[in-house]
Amino acid sequence: MNPRVQIVEGDITKQQVDAIVNAANTSLLGGGGVDGAIHRAAGPELLEETRKIGGCPTGEARVSKGYRLPAKYVIHTVGPVWAGGHKNEDNLLANCYRNSFKAAKDLKIKSVAFPSISTGAYGFPLGRATEIALRETKKFLETDKTLTKVVFVCFGEKALNIYKDIAKKVFGE
Ligand code: ADP
Repeated sequence: MNPRVQIVEGDITKQQVDAIVNAANTSLLGGGGVDGAIHRAAGPELLEETRKIGGCPTGEARVSKGYRLPAKYVIHTVGPVWAGGHKNEDNLLANCYRNSFKAAKDLKIKSVAFPSISTGAYGFPLGRATEIALRETKKFLETDKTLTKVVFVCFGEKALNIYKDIAKKVFGE
């Protein structure tokens, strides 16, 4: 495993990192799943700020403050809705990770935590999404010198086991 990558089970809103990534929707006005949990934990100031940002296209990322979260920033990215795999979903999901890493680099922060983007309400198959997440991470860390910690926060044991299995394949033992 890459020593800069951690895979944990838990709630992303509790992570002690510089930024957490939110699996948002294009409106950036909050929603269910991890988005709802992040807005509840951050407090209403988060919605005030994301309302001003004014939305985000699928695959892109926008930054806000973290307010009452332990994390100083939230990187909001919008994953694709799974539509069977022939609507550019893989590329759009890869873009979410690339653009979130780019945002982290621009913020000059050292640690970032990701949820499993698109694999809840948006229906992206978990194994396929995890492979994309970890491959993009590997690619980014090969050239990046600023991030010291990338945490994948798995919601439940099933997701944890899938991430761990695929990490072995992508990063080696
Ligand atoms: P999407 O609309 O992008 O599919 P969801 O929020 O529905 O987003 O789900 C994305 C992933 O986040 C799912 O795998 C879900 O299990 C997970 N998730 C939900 N709540 C949390 C949380 N508090 N912390 C970390 N992951 C979470």
